[in-house]
Amino acid sequence: MPLYKIKKTNIDKKGLGLYAAQNIKKGTKIINYIGKIITKKQTEQSQKYDNAKPIYLFNLNNRYDLDGDYSFNTARLINHSCSNNCEYDGKGLKLWVTAIRDIKKGEELTCDYGFSYDEDYKQFPCNCGSKNCCGYIVRAESRWRINKKFSLGYQKNIRINK
Ligand SMILES: [Zn+2]
Repeated sequence: MPLYKIKKTNIDKKGLGLYAAQNIKKGTKIINYIGKIITKKQTEQSQKYDNAKPIYLFNLNNRYDLDGDYSFNTARLINHSCSNNCEYDGKGLKLWVTAIRDIKKGEELTCDYGFSYDEDYKQFPCNCGSKNCCGYIVRAESRWRINKKFSLGYQKNIRINK
């Protein structure tokens, strides 16, 4: 029995998402994230990977990236949430999506897209609806820049780093 099914998402009203088709235990590999492996040089030279567009590009190592922007990559349908229940995980040139907590049947599977904070962040509003939502798709470590309610965690990090 598959672990997930494709359904209309609650996060993006126009789009699709992946939902748990059964209860999933923390640590379970749910789906492989597949695509084309390309060299960094190809990434740099192609217009497709312009930072201003939402892209499905993963850094695999210092030579290769993985472009998941293909219809055969079902995992690209996973939406971003500020309270994600999954994360992208990888080894070598393989990527997959792992549950980071127990997930109940019927819950939408979500990841942290990990977009960095820059002047373009307002292009990617977040509608995840979670209590932690900062309003934009920005990686957890950068959300304090947008909303002060995240600043406590940041200050803690500063102290640890000193
Ligand atoms: Zn959000």
